[in-house]
Amino acid sequence: TMASVPSTMKGVVINKNGGTEVLEYKTDLPVPKPGNGQLLVHNDYVGVNFIDTYFRTGLYPAPQMPYTLGREAEGTVVQNGSGEQYGLKEGDRVLIMNESTYAEYTAANAVKAVKIPDGIEKKVGVAAFLQGLTALTLIREAHHVKKGDWVLVHAAAGGTGLWLVGLLKAVGANVIGTASTQEKVDLASKAGAGHMINYSHEDVKAKVMELTKDAGCIAIFDGVGKSTFDLSMDCLARKGSMVSFGNASGAVPPVPIARLSAKNARLMRPTLFGYIATREEFEHYTNELFGFLKDGKIDVKIHKTYPLSDAGRAHNDLEGRKTTGKLLLDPSK
Ligand code: NDP
Repeated sequence: TMASVPSTMKGVVINKNGGTEVLEYKTDLPVPKPGNGQLLVHNDYVGVNFIDTYFRTGLYPAPQMPYTLGREAEGTVVQNGSGEQYGLKEGDRVLIMNESTYAEYTAANAVKAVKIPDGIEKKVGVAAFLQGLTALTLIREAHHVKKGDWVLVHAAAGGTGLWLVGLLKAVGANVIGTASTQEKVDLASKAGAGHMINYSHEDVKAKVMELTKDAGCIAIFDGVGKSTFDLSMDCLARKGSMVSFGNASGAVPPVPIARLSAKNARLMRPTLFGYIATREEFEHYTNELFGFLKDGKIDVKIHKTYPLSDAGRAHNDLEGRKTTGKLLLDPSK
């Protein structure tokens, strides 16, 4: 309760865009006050996502400076603001999807907060949250994948990639994944990719065409961006969906729409936030995600939990392609 909330906290802010040297670890940031429709949440674990690096570099503009990075956390409600709280109360263990989670406390919008069901272990909820919801909404809405569909997933051993592979396997798709090392190939195979291609030394297009008997893939989930876009278009089936959902290798340059006519292709550039904009959509997908976690069908892979003071190392490892699965931060350290 109120008395136990300190006035200052640890957190990571940026004052300008750049490399990891612009990440400033502070121990005296003011603890935010929850406003209308907000909860004050004490963060136990914070998820690291590629989008955090985009805000750091300036690929996506920060709303203001100084800016506290972060998009998700797992923690405990310590104060309620005013207004609609969706039944969440002090002491509840919650997942929050909110900006400024690279800190001990976040004033989080209750509309994007959800109680963690019993039986989900610590760290697992936040390790699953943003990336699992991304994968789930992509396979349901960007391209509704059906049993037997041939689907290509780039960076299949990454955080979002492993979720895509696991969920696609669960719906009975034929999953072809790409990854850059043997270790990653093995991990994604174990997660359910029927076919893995090591794009460091194998010809992805040739292998995809061989596996699909020259038809190509009906859906392509490409979070790598710039370096794989052309390859993905080459691997696409007639009437297929090219789903470009990220920029790990850089932003995709503008595409002339005439390029889509060769295969009557659909081209999409979706974000998770556009699929869970309403409370109803958010609850629908979080409930479905929790269902997958409770079934135990998805093995949530946590790469490592870094101290918050080492957020720079986490960014370097993620951008340096050194990680598999989810990176977390511990804001108490
Ligand atoms: P990952 O854990 O997937 O890490 C990125 C992976 O991308 C690397 O491990 C690497 O795998 C691959 N990669 C290929 N080329 C590069 C490169 N030049 N630099 C860095 N990585 C490269 O990260 P996330 O799961 O956090 O995110 C994956 C993608 O999904 C990102 O583009 C992210 O922005 C996007 N995303 C989009 C969302 C949306 O709403 N649209 C939501 C969540 C994520 P390998 O070595 O095997 O190639």
